Amino acid sequence: MGKGALDAPFFMLTEATLNDALTALKDYQIVLNRISELEKLLSFVPEDVQVLENEWQTMKERLAELVARHEEQSLTQKTQDTALAEATEKSKKFEKDLNEVTNSKEYNAVIKEIDAIRKRVSSLNDDITKRMVDLEEITKNIDECKQLASQSKSKYQSALRKYRATQSEFKTELESNVAERDKKAALVPESLMRQFARIADRRQGIGLALCVDSICSACNVHIRSNVVEMIRHNQRVIKCDSCQRILYFHEEALTS
Ligand SMILES: [Zn+2]
Repeated sequence: MGKGALDAPFFMLTEATLNDALTALKDYQIVLNRISELEKLLSFVPEDVQVLENEWQTMKERLAELVARHEEQSLTQKTQDTALAEATEKSKKFEKDLNEVTNSKEYNAVIKEIDAIRKRVSSLNDDITKRMVDLEEITKNIDECKQLASQSKSKYQSALRKYRATQSEFKTELESNVAERDKKAALVPESLMRQFARIADRRQGIGLALCVDSICSACNVHIRSNVVEMIRHNQRVIKCDSCQRILYFHEEALTS
């Protein structure tokens, strides 16, 4: 242990030195709190950005589904167009055959063929017409969906840009706070720092609490006025009866 005033056990410190030591510790705790806040802020993507990303993904999936359906229907349409051309060709051929029949048995057979092929042509025409209507509807949906997907994408990207800009500000602030933390720590006497660390370890990194309006800001327990007076003058290290944190006097309620 060094011989400087800052390295002496805190109970040997003069009041003025103890005051400085506690003030340094208070500043150190404030920096620690901000670091922990910033680390939390940097650790997750905010919900609104996530919601916008999900919306965009959903739109993209819906668009992909519609495009796939359109392709599938177009393909069927092509096959049916070919089938219709073939059936029409056959129908013409049967009609020609009808002129060349030599007996009623052949005649009846060709008539039966003509009947069947006409039914086939008619059913293919119905299918093709229905499919054309479907395809038009799908095309309309694709156009709408494309527009919605593009709106959704730009909303998401703008939220993402904003989020990244904020993250970058947080990172810069975190770096400066980390540097600040080490500077503040150097001003706190070792013995006081050890005591603080023991408390902070057990209490979510918070070893020092502000005493604001006679209340411990960490656990909200009321502090007796004679104790508040002692805290005010930093005469010795005083801990909260309830949460055991080191108390530091703070005049007014914090606004933030
Ligand atoms: Zn407390």
